[in-house]
Amino acid sequence: MSIFLRFPGGKFKALTLSYDDAVTADIKLIEILNKYGIKATFNISSCFFAKDDNGHYLSRETALKLYSLYGHEPAIHTATHRFITELPTAVAMDEVVNDKKALEKMFGKIITGGAYPFGDNDNKIEEIMRYAGLKYCRALQRRYCHNLEKPIPHRFDMPVNWLRWLPSCHHNDPLLMEMARQFVDMKIDKSFKWGTKPKLFALWGHSYEFNDDNNWEVIEKFAEFIGGKDDIWYATNGEICEYDECFKRLEFSTDGSIVKNPTYRTVWVAVDNNEYKIEAGEIIRVERDEEFIGG
Ligand SMILES: [Zn+2]
Repeated sequence: MSIFLRFPGGKFKALTLSYDDAVTADIKLIEILNKYGIKATFNISSCFFAKDDNGHYLSRETALKLYSLYGHEPAIHTATHRFITELPTAVAMDEVVNDKKALEKMFGKIITGGAYPFGDNDNKIEEIMRYAGLKYCRALQRRYCHNLEKPIPHRFDMPVNWLRWLPSCHHNDPLLMEMARQFVDMKIDKSFKWGTKPKLFALWGHSYEFNDDNNWEVIEKFAEFIGGKDDIWYATNGEICEYDECFKRLEFSTDGSIVKNPTYRTVWVAVDNNEYKIEAGEIIRVERDEEFIGG
């Protein structure tokens, strides 16, 4: 049988953005995203707030408004943005926990993820994130960096390991709009009996790069093209991670015909190409494709 995650509303596609460093250029980026209903996660090093919004970094006051008023998400980027894998373990732990704690105090909510500064991570840092209660963290592999020449594996897969989440591409990627078109055009083919996996487009970058490269039209065009589609779920990194966590908690009978949702929220699932909405706490029966039912 095939069992695949469907996002809220039964959608099979989700878009999320991840932007770093809490810089003043985020003001303009958020204006653009809000205009097209796109959601992003902003990864913040809490020691770097400026006293006003006239320089590179945002002030604490503006950051608080910007990242909490429009449905976007604040997330960690470690307290002082060091190459964290080079630090002694205790110092690395302090970097993670201090940032999480400072942001939780500032925003009055539980911070559930973030991005590694410079994409720098290893097994030890991943463990630190997990012990600190973080559920996802955006990583980079060298080959994913937009400014390196090696081929980039542009993917729309859900992360296999949420604490080493590799995004689909950077906004300066020459294939950005080609990927956007491919993503928008994707439809579920119900005649494909193996089913259709969920697709996730995760874009990342720094908003100050649009100033440095004088190319704000890149994100304007992207957002205008990909925003406002009925079959795409626009969500923050944390919302998608949390939804996937709920999906993974669904319980199935061995023949797959009974499904229980033990979580606090409604979860959608595709079983043998049929879609089901399962309310929090609900147990349902699902249709199985005869061909796949064994003895
Ligand atoms: Zn950074």
